[in-house]
Amino acid sequence: MALIVQKYGGSSVADADSIKRVAKRITEAKRAGDDVVVVVSAMGDTTDELIDLAQQVTPLPPQREMDILLTAGERISMSLLAMAISNLGVEAQSFTGQQAGVITDDVHGRARIIDVSPSRIQAAVDSGAVAIVAGFQGVTQRTNDVTTLGRGGSDTTAVALAAALGADVCEIYTDVDGVFTADPRIVPSARKIDRISYDEMLEMAASGAKVLMLRCVEYARRYGVPVHVRSSFSTRTGTLVTDTPDEGGAPMEQPIIAGVAHDRSEAKITIVDVPDVPGKAARIFQVVAGSGVNLDMIVQNVSVASTGRTDISFTLPASDGAAATAALTEHQPDIGFTSLQYDDMIGKLSLIGAGMKSHPGVSAKLFAALSDAGINIEMISTSEIRISVVTRADQLDDAVRAVHTAFDLDSSEEQAVVYGGTGR
Ligand code: ASP
Ligand code: MG
Repeated sequence: MALIVQKYGGSSVADADSIKRVAKRITEAKRAGDDVVVVVSAMGDTTDELIDLAQQVTPLPPQREMDILLTAGERISMSLLAMAISNLGVEAQSFTGQQAGVITDDVHGRARIIDVSPSRIQAAVDSGAVAIVAGFQGVTQRTNDVTTLGRGGSDTTAVALAAALGADVCEIYTDVDGVFTADPRIVPSARKIDRISYDEMLEMAASGAKVLMLRCVEYARRYGVPVHVRSSFSTRTGTLVTDTPDEGGAPMEQPIIAGVAHDRSEAKITIVDVPDVPGKAARIFQVVAGSGVNLDMIVQNVSVASTGRTDISFTLPASDGAAATAALTEHQPDIGFTSLQYDDMIGKLSLIGAGMKSHPGVSAKLFAALSDAGINIEMISTSEIRISVVTRADQLDDAVRAVHTAFDLDSSEEQAVVYGGTGR
């Protein structure tokens, strides 16, 4: 008998019929003899709709109230799911994040889990019930206020609960069959990855792959929770995220390239004619950091000898663009640059694979594939197991397909299935 934590995303519980379908699946796992704890997201696009609604009431909703509003979405789905399971003759109880013992810091809108004390969940499981937990929410230690964990946060709830309960596996049910070598919405010939290491999955998530939230993977790696990403619409085995070699004792397969991720959510700021003297870069990035903005790639050009000035470009989430631009403009006189260019029509492609550490020629092949497809590279950054490039946004899909093919990642079998959802 195993203890399984199952997480169902919004597209898996989008309406009453979907909830009944998921309920049936949960009762099957329970009747097969396993203990089951379920974490659920808000139905369909409920969270987006609640955000829209708040925006209609006020342009700047207080964050504390925003969090209370948004947690309502998960409370709707958790109670409906518990009812549907009960209706199938299996006892089920739903719990809010607070009831489940999810304690967070007090950063509204993107709180971090500090501790999970799931005594009520454990008691429900011990009594033979299925426990349903509202994802994406917790309560602060200091003030007892309700918090949310940031968009997509239910994955993190699931992994945190799995770690706290000592679960055997955390199953993340979504609308695709697992983690693919590229987003199957863009590359229909993408292949499902059977096993992937935490490090590779971290890079994929950080580079825009939306199938798992970055913080959930960080959490899973820290506590060694095996995560099985699979579809709630099929019974196929999905992708296992783990560093443990498979049962046969065979070393974990390490292909050179795990996959190609893409990200359309970033923007690029270029600061033109920065005096090329010590301290200017430090000043610029102090100003940016001071506005609470987290940046990604940074490029400084060679300075022009005759002027002693240089350009510095960096990428950041487009949602932070206004804040960063305002802060830099305010400090233009003391930094001493001539102008600032803002460009949100960029896309980022990332090639990820642990094997590239020990294989030469990966970047050469990547750049050749892009050039053959007529795609211009605007910025490049690398880590040990990732190469990222910035392109024009409207060329990103073509770039992903070209690189996917160049690295022989296309599947010869049937096409990847996207069962539902909008992919956002
Ligand atoms: N409902 C929240 C969101 O849409 C949390 C989640 O889906 O994981 O972001
Ligand atoms: Mg959602």
